[in-house]
Amino acid sequence: GAGTAEAAENRILVFVRLRPMSRKEEAGSRSCVKIVNKKEVYLTEYASENDYLRLKRVRGRHFCFDSAFPDSTTQAEIYNTSTADLVEGVLQGRNGTVFCYGATGAGKTYTMLGTMESPGVMVLAIKDLFSKVRQRSYDGNHSIQLSYLEIYNETVRDLLSPGRPLHLREDKQGTVAAGLTQYRAYSTDEVMKLLQQGNKNRTTEPTRVNETSSRSHAILQVIVEYRFMDGVSIVTRVGKLSLIDLAGSERALATDQRTQRSIEGANINRSLLALSNCINALVEGKKHIPYRNSKLTQLLKDSLGGSCNTVMIANISPSNLTFGETQNTLHWADRAKEI
Ligand code: ADP
Ligand code: MG
Repeated sequence: GAGTAEAAENRILVFVRLRPMSRKEEAGSRSCVKIVNKKEVYLTEYASENDYLRLKRVRGRHFCFDSAFPDSTTQAEIYNTSTADLVEGVLQGRNGTVFCYGATGAGKTYTMLGTMESPGVMVLAIKDLFSKVRQRSYDGNHSIQLSYLEIYNETVRDLLSPGRPLHLREDKQGTVAAGLTQYRAYSTDEVMKLLQQGNKNRTTEPTRVNETSSRSHAILQVIVEYRFMDGVSIVTRVGKLSLIDLAGSERALATDQRTQRSIEGANINRSLLALSNCINALVEGKKHIPYRNSKLTQLLKDSLGGSCNTVMIANISPSNLTFGETQNTLHWADRAKEI
């Protein structure tokens, strides 16, 4: 019936993206991941990591997703499959969310932000919004506003205008960070520069000064306001697209209870853990979803579950040196699929 169709429509779509081997990995490791039929991921664990001549296949696992992207996939293909439909929804006043998650080095920032030569989902989404808005300018007025913030250690900071931590408050548009810069965007080039600058403003670990912290979440929110005449009255629709480069999942996505508890004790990444708990609660069809447990989930309260469109992109590396992390990421992605 209609209920089922709606449920299917509101399900989280889960994609996996495999990145290419780096030169360093090519020299010292081998691939343990294979993608087949654009949906299936085969993960192979070898008995000995060092003895390539007598590799023995010990354990293998097979996962199936909405799409699995091999390492040759372009940024445009990723965008078109994962996010283009959400952009369409946002233009009609629906909220949409795309997460990239996976271990540090698995390709999250490449997927979300990309490079000047190969812009990622964030930039392609805005480019697409601009062109769609231009095509529709005859039937109403659209305005596009961007904000880019970071959550690090449960502290919210503006990446477009760094300064003091921001407080969250409730507003008619959901939970908002008070004082966050709302940037009116006009061109794609300008946006790419803005986001790259913003990314440089992400908190770095004290011990690794030149590296972007693996514990910071970067959230780009694009708010599209659409005003049009309906007879004699002006109607306003607002859609929000959230594009999120999550913190590295290497320590927080452990699936068994005991590890989960020790992570909570160590307070490694409260927002990532809370997101995982919200997703588990949504998976289990619980009435109460614990959005209030972290800054990230508070901010996403109106953008997760319900009538929102949500997409997860699980980023993985092919190297057998990161087998454990890849396995964790795939297990988590596999579970998110059930929502
Ligand atoms: P993360 O943000 O998950 O820590 P990055 O996105 O920084 O990982 O990726 C790690 C490295 O791998 C970077 O040098 C990045 O440019 C490269 N990389 C990641 N994904 C791809 C890809 N699909 N194609 C080419 N290079 C990639
Ligand atoms: Mg990154």
